[in-house]
Amino acid sequence: MYQLPSSYAPGDLVSTSTAALNSGYSVRSIITADLRAMAMAARDAGRPIQVVSAYRSYTQQAATFDYWVSIGGYQHALLTSARAGHSEHQLGTTLDFTSLGGAAPWTYSDWASTPAGGWMAANAWRHGFVMTYPRGETATACYSYEPWHYRYVGKPTAAAVHDSGMNLREAIWAAHGP
Ligand SMILES: [Zn+2]
Repeated sequence: MYQLPSSYAPGDLVSTSTAALNSGYSVRSIITADLRAMAMAARDAGRPIQVVSAYRSYTQQAATFDYWVSIGGYQHALLTSARAGHSEHQLGTTLDFTSLGGAAPWTYSDWASTPAGGWMAANAWRHGFVMTYPRGETATACYSYEPWHYRYVGKPTAAAVHDSGMNLREAIWAAHGP
């Protein structure tokens, strides 16, 4: 029901380098203005960020999920990686970040407790991005805590989610029903 068709791919993908970030990843062009503003604000605050994942195709997501199954088994993979067709990364509006020059964010005990991760947790919403899977909300967000995973929803929605105190999934359901 919420599955994207395997053929779905955004038609306006551009490099993350167009948003003053490292290259090698793609996002939809509609998010680059706000993404660039966020990247520059983080840098100006002395908390620079870099991209470690952005758009992933259905095929790439299938390979990612299979990788996590091979590491921890199917049930664990369901908590930490979306099945193909269910990933926000296939939308082209979702990114994983780490600190500039830092290790992969999932190797920190809690990336949100680092300077860059903490800045993102406090400020990303001002630029239209929300942390989809906040801490301690596995039951309602349906995934493990991922302090590096941000989805662009636009400034008005991000502000509404921030003010509501709900996670994105709860806020969407509250607004539109499950
Ligand atoms: Zn992610």
